[in-house]
Amino acid sequence: MIRTLTCGCLIAVLAFAMLLIGIVGALGALLPSLPNQPTATQVATGRPCADPIETQGYMPGPGAFEPHHTGIDFACEGNLTLTAVMAGTVVIADDGPCPNTYYTSGARTFGCNVDIETELDGRKLFARYGHMAQGSLDVLVGEQVVAGDALGTEGESGYATGRHVHFEIDLGAASTADCINPVPYLDPAIIHCPCHN
Ligand SMILES: [Zn+2]
Repeated sequence: MIRTLTCGCLIAVLAFAMLLIGIVGALGALLPSLPNQPTATQVATGRPCADPIETQGYMPGPGAFEPHHTGIDFACEGNLTLTAVMAGTVVIADDGPCPNTYYTSGARTFGCNVDIETELDGRKLFARYGHMAQGSLDVLVGEQVVAGDALGTEGESGYATGRHVHFEIDLGAASTADCINPVPYLDPAIIHCPCHN
């Protein structure tokens, strides 16, 4: 009797486990797959400015602010002209007004900013250059740029405590909801912070 019960229990447990596996599998198929990080062959050699000094690294969320950070901050030494890291099409060119602010929410966070859409290996990438100087933009929405093209001037518009450029890469849409580690897309020589995840 005890053996029969044990056997019955085992069968029930196995059936339940298989049901769980089935449910998890079905859910997995419904959920969008997580973004894959690029391989080393996709490294871009462009720089956000001629002589960028990394001041804050990338640290994935939850949330976009301390200690998390959706991109990398660079301070430009000497020449303050921001330049495209990768070729693409300008999809956001916000030239102002974009005062320096404390954090509120939404688009003003990045102040004046440029976002460039690039198709790479069948995926859309959006490279954002934030906190630019008001009225300094050199590009318009719809414009095609190549790596090295001038975008505008480094500033401290939006939520910034000093002059710098916030560089981030989003997958699929120009937002911070799907940002990925931008390090593989940048010239390794300009990456100094050991804090990237
Ligand atoms: Zn930043």
